[in-house]
Amino acid sequence: MYIHNIDLHYHAGQERDKGVSLEKYLLHAKATGRLVLGLTDHLDIYLGLARKDKECPYTRSISGLIDYYNDVNKLKSSFPEIKLLFAPEIGSRIDLDRICSDVIRISDYFIFELPFSEESIKENTKQMVNRLSEIQAFRDRARKPVYIAHPFRTSINIRLVKRDIQPWITKLKPNYEMSFSNEELSVFFMFAIDQFAYACNRFEIPVEVNGSTHYGIRLFNLPAPLQMLWASYCKFRDTGVQLVPGSDLHRFGRFGHSVPFDCFHYLGLTVQDLAFLTDII
Ligand SMILES: [Zn+2]
Repeated sequence: MYIHNIDLHYHAGQERDKGVSLEKYLLHAKATGRLVLGLTDHLDIYLGLARKDKECPYTRSISGLIDYYNDVNKLKSSFPEIKLLFAPEIGSRIDLDRICSDVIRISDYFIFELPFSEESIKENTKQMVNRLSEIQAFRDRARKPVYIAHPFRTSINIRLVKRDIQPWITKLKPNYEMSFSNEELSVFFMFAIDQFAYACNRFEIPVEVNGSTHYGIRLFNLPAPLQMLWASYCKFRDTGVQLVPGSDLHRFGRFGHSVPFDCFHYLGLTVQDLAFLTDII
């Protein structure tokens, strides 16, 4: 098995494209070589906390999430070659005590988003690490594996995707050795990379190498942001943080995201290095 065969972050419920069935999403997963597939959706949408204008195939409630889970189960026999797992994505504002026993029961693992503050690097790091400690407590209570989704996504949205690109970013020099300092990385991503990596390692919480973040960076003609992303993952790896692959696909075809297999190759990590897999399979 290769890294691209494992996708732990694949949105196919409430967030699938209008008129496209769950079965079509699974056929796409099969055609693109996914053999271990974590089916997800934002729990916030089911709790009525997000995307209130969106037309959804399931009701906005826990029973809607259970309907999605049941639909996944019904299709398992049609896709015997794929290990289908169920893994809700939990937003940073959700009170973790609100995650009821029914949700825990149907979930193989949980994907967690982190808060993001633009106030300062110090404040942002503090909020991220505080949430890690709440996630650790939840994991121990729920007895289900957890990991952190896309820790760099909001920074990339701010630096490239959703705002004007600032002149200092345009001027960043390519660094093919990826020898960025901790400070350079922390200023660009707006949190203390070393402190965050240390906390993930201490709490034993894996971190995702996220396809959507890679896709966002590659929309732009600048080498340094991708090099800084990979350099940061190197620091995570060297701190002992487990890294896991997830595409974060919501739509496929023109917008489909891939598992960042090239980043794993650069990091020298293979499927044998994914200890998280043995926790969830
Ligand atoms: Zn997601």
